[in-house]
Amino acid sequence: MTEQNEYEIVVGLEVHAQLLTKSKLFCGDSIAYGAAPNTHVSPITLGHPGTLPKMNSKAIEFAIKMGLACHSAIEMQNYFARKNYFYPDLPKGYQVSQHTTPICVGGFIAVKTDSSHEEKKIRLNRIHLEEDAGKSLHDIDEENTCIDYNRAGTPLIEIVTEPDIRSSEEAFVYLTKIRQLVRYLEICDGNMEEGSLRCDANISVRKKGDPKLGTRVEVKNLNSTRNVKSAIDVEATRLINMLESGEVIKQQTRSFDANSGTSVAIRDKEDADDYRYFAEPDLTPFHLKDEFIDQIKKRIPSLPEERIKKYIAELNLSEYDATVLTEEKAFSDYFEILISYLIFLSDGERQGVSIPPSPPRGEGQGVSIPPSPPRGEGQGVRYKAAANWMLGPVKAWLNENNQQIEMFPVSPQQMAEVIKLVDTGAISFSAASTKLFSSLVKNPTKHPEEIAKEENLLQQSDLSAIGTIIDTVLEKLADKVVEYKKGKKGLLALFIGEVMKQSKGKADPKITNELLVEKLKSV
Ligand code: ADP
Ligand code: MG
Repeated sequence: MTEQNEYEIVVGLEVHAQLLTKSKLFCGDSIAYGAAPNTHVSPITLGHPGTLPKMNSKAIEFAIKMGLACHSAIEMQNYFARKNYFYPDLPKGYQVSQHTTPICVGGFIAVKTDSSHEEKKIRLNRIHLEEDAGKSLHDIDEENTCIDYNRAGTPLIEIVTEPDIRSSEEAFVYLTKIRQLVRYLEICDGNMEEGSLRCDANISVRKKGDPKLGTRVEVKNLNSTRNVKSAIDVEATRLINMLESGEVIKQQTRSFDANSGTSVAIRDKEDADDYRYFAEPDLTPFHLKDEFIDQIKKRIPSLPEERIKKYIAELNLSEYDATVLTEEKAFSDYFEILISYLIFLSDGERQGVSIPPSPPRGEGQGVSIPPSPPRGEGQGVRYKAAANWMLGPVKAWLNENNQQIEMFPVSPQQMAEVIKLVDTGAISFSAASTKLFSSLVKNPTKHPEEIAKEENLLQQSDLSAIGTIIDTVLEKLADKVVEYKKGKKGLLALFIGEVMKQSKGKADPKITNELLVEKLKSV
């Protein structure tokens, strides 16, 4: 093994994201995944002579959305070009793509890896629009390759970075962020297994300090974030070993086999490919207007970075909690609605107003945390409690049931009621997070307090009832009380434990504690 430490890994990623439009980029065929082969193939998709493409403005809007979220400049004068090449799953013999005028130019994605802690900007070269090809299926027939043209003409954006990535870990975080972003923007489902998000990794190595980039290899069509990470590690090691043994690296396109953890060359790329680009004559150039861009800006939801900042600064949550809460937009939306109910419940109490109906779930576009009342201790604690509920019982339920938050049966309003019950001491957290919670997911419309009553989970906060129990306990443990009086204050825990036991866990621990300390002063 050679000195890997002397080398620096350089990576640039090209990510293709299938846009979640209803129809294809240039015709009305559906883009739905999983349909029977060759059922979404109009004459336009198949490139029959005499057919004319028509542009899908939703695709343009989605590309701009991504560009704005990545801080790119938006190109106002655009046209499509034909990229000519022969491939069986490319029915027209050319791909319609943007050539010299990508719709989004520059921009960046900020990444933070576990090992660096510092935020780093991965610069984008461009984001451009293009159509997808069909799919060649090699494993259906023993002798023939089958072709499914359903995917042909599906709108894609290609997001291309500068060669700014320096480790497989950075690539992993970058890709995770891209996936998160397209899902927040609702422009792509981010499903790498189904190929809605695909990644090509360009990898080279150079001696540390060398200003010149090394010759790169391009690993095609990686279909998971984990595979991108392993492909980079495998390639970098292979390239370093080649250099160390004096071999010359050729620019190559390679394919990675995740099972064996090896890559094979598909083709050498000695000359630049000649795609004979020319402007697509069947489509007019398209010029964007400022108002169009402004409209799109308004439709961009609050993004993870902004939410994380807000959760830390306004809700006093830890960076870790804020990060996990915002991984998925719908999950974060749920949390925000929950918070607004918590505020509402505490405000409502003061003002005697009633609870508003639950807002439509899963939508969340317009959801934002309402202006919080003056931030006292209690409020911060409640936000933390809400976060704990989301990251504890709720997340555990989703994992166990292999579900997304959209399918979580309990509304944020009901969850807020539960938190309030714990907050006011009516029920202990442990009873709430186990018994009450599991009954509630089975009976999501029943009022939590009703369930707590029925299942006898309400704590005793009745002072006289607890007082009576305390008296019995102190009498029973009279010798310990003497020791306590002599200074063995640690015995308080024993007394509390005994009271809890006698009350069958229903005495409010806080009240018990206070009452006990008082009583012990006077005995
Ligand atoms: P092509 O279109 O032939 O794939 P590009 O110049 O568009 O080539 O680059 C594609 C990707 O390769 C970009 O993400 C870029 O950052 C990356 N890249 C270019 N040169 C290198 C290199 N020497 N090492 C690693 N990545 C590179
Ligand atoms: Mg490339």
